[in-house]
Amino acid sequence: MDLRSLYVELERAADACTMAPFEESVFMDDMALGGEVPWFSLKDIDVGKRLGSGKFGAVYAARERRTGFVFALKVLDKRQLIKHRVEHQLRREIEIQSHCRHVNILRLYSFFHDEKRVYLMLEMAPGGELYSLLQQRGTFSEARSAWYFKQMVEAIQYCHTKHIMHRDIKPENILIGLNDTLKIADFGWAVHAPKSRRETFCGTLDYLPPEMVGNKQYTHGVDIWGLGVLLYEFLMGRPPFEDNDERGTYRKIKNSVPEFPPHISREAKDLVKKMLHKDPEQRATFPEILAHPWVARSCTGTNAQRLQDRYGGIV
Ligand code: AMP
Repeated sequence: MDLRSLYVELERAADACTMAPFEESVFMDDMALGGEVPWFSLKDIDVGKRLGSGKFGAVYAARERRTGFVFALKVLDKRQLIKHRVEHQLRREIEIQSHCRHVNILRLYSFFHDEKRVYLMLEMAPGGELYSLLQQRGTFSEARSAWYFKQMVEAIQYCHTKHIMHRDIKPENILIGLNDTLKIADFGWAVHAPKSRRETFCGTLDYLPPEMVGNKQYTHGVDIWGLGVLLYEFLMGRPPFEDNDERGTYRKIKNSVPEFPPHISREAKDLVKKMLHKDPEQRATFPEILAHPWVARSCTGTNAQRLQDRYGGIV
């Protein structure tokens, strides 16, 4: 049985899995996240092959012994987290991601820790990073872009209904899950902001909106901008305001309009421009984006079925 069919089977078993839900009150001690007895430890888990590595540790395929449930185990080094002062960021990431339930958002099932490490039990994404796929292919066709884009729009729309701003949408933070369904995976910059406008400067330079570059207050419109940059990158293989140095990128974000070659359709350009409006108040809204002819044409009816057959995802 290959890994994918094994995973399909175990995903079904997941419903029967009794992983305890995350409680907001549970945090670990030396990272101010502390005291309660964790539900899992390494003793409960078989750790398999390494799936990848990041700045603070590595990710492994893993299986919960009792139920056989397969997941990805992200192992983070506490010393590194503390050294880079990202304990609070991790705590916020855990709080936010563990509360999200959307087909296009990577599940965080639970976490535990020992003296040296923090362990995150994550939904397995067998396809790896969307970034690698985009690099392999250079660009995505318009139909494929629309199909992927819609999944990400729906994920971020869900976040906004929960008053969560993601603030770091980019292909590196999107994983390819079961059935090639796209999953937003990294909530390191996300924030729960029910009302207030925010001022923290965050995210990734190429994806920053003008209001952040200009150190102004910003709202959920930053994610519409991020999705616009993402769509441009799907179509063009590079972000719209790329430049030789940071100052050039800043300048372009503030002053330039994205450029397109002639083969990009008028409708695709129209949508990107509406999302990359410099004035956040003027940017397209989620209903406008989803009803835009460029999205609607590919992502409804028989076209949607055809794209799902070809590129996966869940309708
Ligand atoms: P990260 O530390 O989150 O940047 O993850 C490092 C690498 O591990 C990623 O580039 C992926 O290749 C892999 N990875 C992370 N999370 C998962 C997951 N949930 N399922 C499968 N692979 C993953």
